[in-house]
Amino acid sequence: ESAYERIRDIDDSVQAFLTLDEEGAMAQARALDDQVDQSGKQPLFGIPAGIKDNIMTEGMKTTCASQLLDNFNPVYDATVMKRLREQNTVTVGKLNMDEFAMGSSNENSGYYVTRNPWNTDYVPGGSSGGSAAAVAAGEVPFALGSDTGGSIREPAAYCGVVGLKPTYGRVSRYGLVAFASSLDQIGPITRTVEDNAYVLQEIAGHDERDSTSVDVSVPDYLSALEGNINGLRIAVPKEYLGEGVDAGVKDRIQEAIRTLEGMGATCEEVSLPNSRYAVAAYYLLASSEASANLARFDGIRYGVRKDGDDLLDVYKKTRSEGFGNEVKRRIMLGTFALSSGYYDAYYKKAQKVRTLIREDYNQVLHSFDVILGPTAPTTAFKIGEQNEDPLTMYLNDILTIPVNLSGNPALSIPCGFSNGLPVGLQLIGKPFEERILYRVGHAYE
Ligand code: GLN
Repeated sequence: ESAYERIRDIDDSVQAFLTLDEEGAMAQARALDDQVDQSGKQPLFGIPAGIKDNIMTEGMKTTCASQLLDNFNPVYDATVMKRLREQNTVTVGKLNMDEFAMGSSNENSGYYVTRNPWNTDYVPGGSSGGSAAAVAAGEVPFALGSDTGGSIREPAAYCGVVGLKPTYGRVSRYGLVAFASSLDQIGPITRTVEDNAYVLQEIAGHDERDSTSVDVSVPDYLSALEGNINGLRIAVPKEYLGEGVDAGVKDRIQEAIRTLEGMGATCEEVSLPNSRYAVAAYYLLASSEASANLARFDGIRYGVRKDGDDLLDVYKKTRSEGFGNEVKRRIMLGTFALSSGYYDAYYKKAQKVRTLIREDYNQVLHSFDVILGPTAPTTAFKIGEQNEDPLTMYLNDILTIPVNLSGNPALSIPCGFSNGLPVGLQLIGKPFEERILYRVGHAYE
């Protein structure tokens, strides 16, 4: 009741939700009132959740914020949803995003723009902008997002909440509508690091339905929140505090470094020399994978079908009218990059760059426990401010993208304000060592 009350109060101005299921959720919640968690093993029992609209929810519309999927009702649950339902979590509704998760501001939604709860003239970030805004506005205690190049961390930073991109393979992608399959990960957005650990605990783990999910046992994330970071070695890449990073953001990060040093950690400058190629490599690889993944939206198999003279005409009309401009741009870029004669020059080269970026991280994390920097070079920007040039928009993810290319886990936590808007601090760890990110994040917050 309190979740829907808050949504009624505030969602007209924040516009985080695309779909609400008050009747279904209240019925489920009432049924839970008569039960108790007998096992004591369901920390998320009865907790209201918001779900990004590219995660399949059986019987609840899943649009990816695309007009093309305006009428799409999945017939099965994503694995993460199945696991949350087993915990008796209550799904409040589905959250707005950039169409098919392509964007950094929510302005690419095929419906409407979600607003930053701290100042509604500003973007909430993207693509999981609805998820971050709903948590920041107190509509739900937690939300799930997805992160292909920063889509959990960047909106978490802009909205002043906690967001984790788990290690690639840590959380099942089964039932997540694929954008770039080799980069996509689902993760929790919460108000605190502790809440984040509770949610990851339930959604992490091997799933035979996702061949890229890894069969590594799930550790106890809660026990990592011990508050002690004495002796921890923290690396600060000079590229993360270089040109293009706002002075106000730099100041907050420097203060955080001093705070962590005060708690007994040592911080040292390092270099990640190949990170400057990350955005270029990402837009080749992500667009290539997207062009293949989005071929299935042809008007025949899923979603809205436009009438046409023949089959080809149906495809053309469905895709021309159903997809927004950014999605079309990515499909064209990807199709071009994968076309014969260009494959070696672009796709293959980008894959090589990806390996170099991964090696940079491996090398630094060989002698350090975590890497620290800002999540984004600036705080949230004004709605409409970066709409002119897609390249300007792409640069918002310059500090988050390298981690998707390498597969490492990364956590964004709030670290103060600059000009009245939240700043995000990013912590990057070794593969499958989300625990250390939680440990540092919890000690800091
Ligand atoms: N902003 C990046 C893009 O537009 C990342 C999106 C994401 O992580 N889903 O591709």
